[in-house]
Amino acid sequence: MSSLASPVQVSILGATGSIGQSTLDVIARYPDRFQVFALSGHSNMAQLARDIKAFSPRFVVVPNNERRLELQRLTDAAETEILVGEQALSDVASAPEVDAVMASIVGAAGLDSSLSAAKAGKKLLLANKESLVVAGALLMDAVAHSGAQLMPIDSEHNAIFQCLPNGQTNQGVESVLLTASGGPFREFSLEQLAHVTPEQAVAHPNWSMGRKISVDSATLMNKGLELIEACWLFDLTPADIEVVVHPQSVIHSMVRYVDGSVISQMGAPDMRTPIAYGLAYPERIVSGSDRLQFTSALQLSFDQPDRVRFPCLRLAEDAMRLGGTAPAILNAANEITVAAFLNRRIGFTEIARINEQVLTDSNIETVESVEQLRDVDQRARQLAAAAVEV
Ligand code: NAD
Ligand code: MG
Repeated sequence: MSSLASPVQVSILGATGSIGQSTLDVIARYPDRFQVFALSGHSNMAQLARDIKAFSPRFVVVPNNERRLELQRLTDAAETEILVGEQALSDVASAPEVDAVMASIVGAAGLDSSLSAAKAGKKLLLANKESLVVAGALLMDAVAHSGAQLMPIDSEHNAIFQCLPNGQTNQGVESVLLTASGGPFREFSLEQLAHVTPEQAVAHPNWSMGRKISVDSATLMNKGLELIEACWLFDLTPADIEVVVHPQSVIHSMVRYVDGSVISQMGAPDMRTPIAYGLAYPERIVSGSDRLQFTSALQLSFDQPDRVRFPCLRLAEDAMRLGGTAPAILNAANEITVAAFLNRRIGFTEIARINEQVLTDSNIETVESVEQLRDVDQRARQLAAAAVEV
């Protein structure tokens, strides 16, 4: 980039979370190249206040007036305006001044702002996989119509993108190999799984992440959500995707070609690598990630996933095959059951059991609109919440 080019204006939604903070870490290395237009935070106002001080965004978005007052007590930055509510998330995702949007809110709560960025033709750096799971058809449509640039930030999808010419799967691709660490309970028996605690579940062996995705990694729901995400991003069906357990998380995913070649992307398990790739694409920039050292300490091993001990992977495959609103139903149920597990209301193996029950008990419809999906999401949440109470 020439020094005369104006900086890329970035909105970071979910800035106070794990991905949001890693994004700010990369951006801080390039003050002339990237400028923070807006940040959002849902609960950690102290972190948001520190980031306002460090990055002087034009806007920050908080969920309600209580948080606004809390934030005002913590910051005196006159150049930053505080906006309140969900609509403001979509506004800062689609503002004309904005070039790129990091969608790093957790859960279906990120859908509207991801869609707004896509409709407005932004460079959409998508970490919020639940957006694609819930509304893949609508989001991909919006991207196609507006000419938005969709950059996968999820490490596996970023890896697949890097292993494909121009991110396209129409050139001799046989399958996609989606790698999974297997999570902290990879070797646990069903009996042991029934008794694991939230503390054990959020202590991922390789990655430091938010609590929800950490539990999803432990149940393999994360891999299931990622399988659905990969289907939408790369125009695949579940049959085109092989899930491979690779406990070291060094290979971030692979593409198998018809000529026998398998291309992988490797790196230390650090989200700053895919974030930097997405931010600067097609250029490469320093991300702060550690170098991989090719010494005898680097061991790569592989295994098959166990869909009996980890039924959430199978549920996600089923949901994608069923199509329509099935993935949205499964995602909504899972958001409720994961929260219930984290609050010690249900055991670990109940997550998959209730998710399956909600999916089985729900009518699956053809996807028509965001309003319909909101309704489907709410109904599935109610069914899951009722099952948690039993
Ligand atoms: P996190 O819990 O650390 O952060 C979530 C962010 O979303 C926070 O800023 C929080 O304030 C905000 N938020 C929470 N609920 C909200 C709501 N209802 N409305 C608006 N904002 C809300 O989560 P994370 O680990 O950073 O993950 C963020 C997203 O990125 C998830 O979709 C996750 O699956 C995906 N992802 C994360 C990683 C990772 O390494 N952390 C890797 C790949 C993909
Ligand atoms: Mg991932």
